Amino acid sequence: MKSILLIGLGRFGKHIALNLNQMGHQVMAVDYDEEKVNEVLPFVTSAQIGDSTNADFLESLGIRNYDVCIVAIGNDFQSSLETTSLLKEMGAKMVISRASRDVQEKFLLRNGADKVVYPEKQMAKWTALRCSASNILDFVELDNEHAMLEVPVPHDWIGKSIGQIDVRKKYNVNIIGLKKNGKLLFSITADQMLDAGDSLFALGKDKDLQKCFRL
Ligand code: ATP
Repeated sequence: MKSILLIGLGRFGKHIALNLNQMGHQVMAVDYDEEKVNEVLPFVTSAQIGDSTNADFLESLGIRNYDVCIVAIGNDFQSSLETTSLLKEMGAKMVISRASRDVQEKFLLRNGADKVVYPEKQMAKWTALRCSASNILDFVELDNEHAMLEVPVPHDWIGKSIGQIDVRKKYNVNIIGLKKNGKLLFSITADQMLDAGDSLFALGKDKDLQKCFRL
């Protein structure tokens, strides 16, 4: 369980709060709009109404005590940047900030963000991928070049073992897990057999994954 400070409770922030709650994390939610704060009250641990660009207000939240601080403000970039920078100055352990334009990403990283999420860009990529490759069940972009995919076991791999298909040598792709009968298996060995209906979690460079799974 992590202790998380979530600032900005628009649609994006609200979904983050919901998910963190389902995962059992402790969330302190902040927005300067009382209505937005009230909407998330049922699924956060605590909440405060306040302006995150106000240093005294932020200081009063005890920033060092949170494992992660999330700045989910999208439209008001000035506020997002000021909040990110203040959080880091106040000793935040990890700051994840939201970008909504390409240029914002690098400003946030230079001004205190440890990680940047860019929901519109990331979801656009995922949606385009889903349309063009119907066999992708899930996709996590790791950086500009690398990703993790969940894909159904290709037909010609059914009945073979992970060792026999040897995709690490052939394609430079790592199989890191398997879903069998709805169960996740992450300690798989080379003699693990692949059956119809299984899906694979594969990690690698985008171009290697595309070749390997004919995406
Ligand atoms: P979303 O796209 O997530 O729906 P939005 O379009 O409602 O967001 P944003 O400008 O991205 O609006 O702001 C997200 C939330 O952050 C809003 O609920 C807004 O009230 C809050 N917010 C913006 N600036 C601050 C600030 N300085 N302090 C606290 N809350 C803020």
